[in-house]
Amino acid sequence: MNIMKIAPAPGAHDFQLLIKNILAYSLMLEPEREIVYSNKHRYNYFTLNKRIRQLANALQHLGLSGGAPVAVLDYDSHRYLECYFAIPMTANVLHTVNWRLSPAQILYTIRHAKDEVIIVHEDFLPLIESFAGQMPSVKHIIVTTDDTATQTGAYPHYEALLAAMPESYDFPDFDEDAVATMFYTTGTTGDPKGVYYTHRQLVLHTYHLAATFGFVAGATGRFGSDDVYMPLTSMFHVHAWGFPYLATMYSLKQVYVGKFDAANVLDLITNEKPTFSHCVPTILQMLFAKAEEVPTDFSGWKLVSGGAAMPESLAKKAILKGIDLRASYGMSETCPVICGGYIPLHCKDKDIDWQAKARSRTGMPPAFVEMKIADEQGNEVAHDDYTTGEILVRAPWLTQGYLHDHERGAQLWEGGYLHTGDVATINKHHSIRIADRIKDVIKSGGEWISSLALENYIGQHHAVAEVAVVGMPDPQWGERPYALVVPATGKTLTIELLQQHLQQFIDNGELSKWAMPEHFEWVSAIPKTSVGKIDKKVIRGQLSKI
Ligand code: AMP
Repeated sequence: MNIMKIAPAPGAHDFQLLIKNILAYSLMLEPEREIVYSNKHRYNYFTLNKRIRQLANALQHLGLSGGAPVAVLDYDSHRYLECYFAIPMTANVLHTVNWRLSPAQILYTIRHAKDEVIIVHEDFLPLIESFAGQMPSVKHIIVTTDDTATQTGAYPHYEALLAAMPESYDFPDFDEDAVATMFYTTGTTGDPKGVYYTHRQLVLHTYHLAATFGFVAGATGRFGSDDVYMPLTSMFHVHAWGFPYLATMYSLKQVYVGKFDAANVLDLITNEKPTFSHCVPTILQMLFAKAEEVPTDFSGWKLVSGGAAMPESLAKKAILKGIDLRASYGMSETCPVICGGYIPLHCKDKDIDWQAKARSRTGMPPAFVEMKIADEQGNEVAHDDYTTGEILVRAPWLTQGYLHDHERGAQLWEGGYLHTGDVATINKHHSIRIADRIKDVIKSGGEWISSLALENYIGQHHAVAEVAVVGMPDPQWGERPYALVVPATGKTLTIELLQQHLQQFIDNGELSKWAMPEHFEWVSAIPKTSVGKIDKKVIRGQLSKI
């Protein structure tokens, strides 16, 4: 097909979509508004901008001249927000480290990303120090603390570094396809996989959030420049769903909760009055449990739930408390938001049972997201809300592969669509409902647990003949691991013995502490498929009948 292209006039500016433009706008509308860090610090957008410029100078001072990965291990904080901007705006790459991974996995990601600098909260410093001699790429470690101390032993302190730096910095223009952020996902077995996003992708995702959550009118409330924003999903996980970039662009009041503590979050809800948040269902459950001790007014709070299926019973509780709830869907590989709940205006007054069902439904793709639910041949399934298929997606803000891993990147993008590994149905109104995950990883409290890793460690106990681990629904954590164990002949096994055995892998950092199963069952055989693989579908079916 022919198209018309016209050469730009001499001098015409080829505007690049860069994160610096998001920050530049933060000084336009309401720069006096505050960015709050728990009950510890608060400052306005002038200070945010100044500190970002100082951090940029500090990075330059350390010899970073672009393209260098900078790891951050911190709680959700104003400092993290500063890193969201200063690191990519100096053309370096923000590596948000998931400190909930096992120590061995954290070390793997730092080595694999070839991080040159680590900015680390003092709580995680002993962990980083335990990696001494094993991080050849790391040239500098910078320590942050919650108080205003500026001394932390052997390492430069973040505050002292900033304070010593000039307050001006001229952020350069560069190619919008430069990588801005990276982080790792451990959704399947094997080593963690690195995903990465460019400036262009993050800018487009920011505009997409503005349009999808702000422009579209439905029965759920809209996110606007008069909202008070308080994220309840970790900033290390998929850019806190990208909302900090949008909130900063329009200088909203922002509240960052620090180390998660339900009582503190309830305090912040009462005192700072956030109007818009997002979280995984487990967090909401924790807040409701705490609110039984500390009565809290949640009414008018707009809440986006994602990361796991929202149980209808929880949705109902939220609605009864006056929360304006909607679901959304995405994953590490998708920046993340690729789907969101939409309730037409005329359904506003439907009864609570209808609302709970509709508001917990995964939702529909927004503009610029091409999504299909496809069978194994790649053909779209019927829109009957019954036939299942894998969610395949295309959008401008999806990771274009896995870091330094061509093979797994090619599998992700097989056939030109990103394969989510999620199984869903779709109805005639284009709304999807996630039915299951193709892979059998277990998601507990928002964190992945590899069932195969657990099988591997349990199987190493001398009294275990065979083992299978599956995730089963759990009212508090979403899912918890269940282990089916065939004891070796003549050997005795107890839950305590197996837990003691697993504890050593937790102690040496190979396994996360929340991977420890509470549920074990002794069986005489493990169900197998026709080709001799463990049949997890059958196991789950059997367990659900108990
Ligand atoms: P992660 O890459 O850790 O963000 O996890 C992404 C996975 O979480 C997806 O592939 C889904 O399996 C699951 N997930 C995310 N949002 C939802 C949702 N609204 N309902 C059900 N599962 C979800």
